[in-house]
Amino acid sequence: MERYDTIDALRAALGRARQTGRSIGLVPTMGYLHAGHLELVRRARAENDITVVSIFVNPTQFAPSEDFSTYPRDMERDLALLAQSGVDAVFTPGVEEMYPQPLQTTISLKPLGDILIGKVRPGHFSGVATVVAKLFNIVQPTRAYFGEKDFQQLTVIRRMVDDLNVPVEIVGVPTVREVDGLAMSSRNVRLSPQDRQAARVLSKALFEGAAMIEAGESDAAGILAKMTARIVAEPGVTLRSLDICDARDLAPVETIDRPVVVLVTAEVGPVLLIDQREARPA
Ligand code: AMP
Repeated sequence: MERYDTIDALRAALGRARQTGRSIGLVPTMGYLHAGHLELVRRARAENDITVVSIFVNPTQFAPSEDFSTYPRDMERDLALLAQSGVDAVFTPGVEEMYPQPLQTTISLKPLGDILIGKVRPGHFSGVATVVAKLFNIVQPTRAYFGEKDFQQLTVIRRMVDDLNVPVEIVGVPTVREVDGLAMSSRNVRLSPQDRQAARVLSKALFEGAAMIEAGESDAAGILAKMTARIVAEPGVTLRSLDICDARDLAPVETIDRPVVVLVTAEVGPVLLIDQREARPA
């Protein structure tokens, strides 16, 4: 496995691979890797000749009040995990390398980037779409891998690629969970033991909501009310958003008559957690 800190060095290495017609799979991450990230890596390796993982905690997707400075980081451990996982190249640019000058060009999706988590985190998806576009231009991957856990992010990236004719195939990977259902996240490490217990309510409520939909309940408001009651009853959990949306474009759904995704955002102790579950009506 080779590690590259600069765009030029990575491009030179990948240019040689590309000339020989080899496919490149890209897995963008912010590091502090867990089994969810490694599942993306596994898929990328299975479907491409070369697998590139980027590790970059992107400052432009964090608001000043958010957790950029306390976001967990452990580069040595991440590199060891990726080497064990058979990754070919790791791209670990510093902030200066990615943003040598203030950007005048950014990508914003309207309304997709402003709804749901975009309301809780204004500007977040513009930061994400712009850095992912930069990574696509730097790596020029054949395929890029994103987790369904960050469902709105996956939808934003798919739409950006469609809108701007970016020649990359986007692959969504199902959420990897802890044994008790909690979606794996780098931020879980910041949960106290008590918060960690409380956080289970999110995946449980999602599971129950999906079960109601799959059993034929079609009134979204009724399902959301039951889920809300379950979540707000859990001490230490502050519900920030809970929605049932069209699984393709995240449009709000009142009567569930098509595949949907149930999306939750909640603060558990000091940590903002998100989770999702897709469901099809009976
Ligand atoms: P992050 O490092 O949190 O930016 O995540 C990097 C990529 O891993 C994103 O595409 C995430 O959606 C994906 N990811 C994070 N957690 C999980 C998980 N539990 N299961 C599957 N994919 C995940």
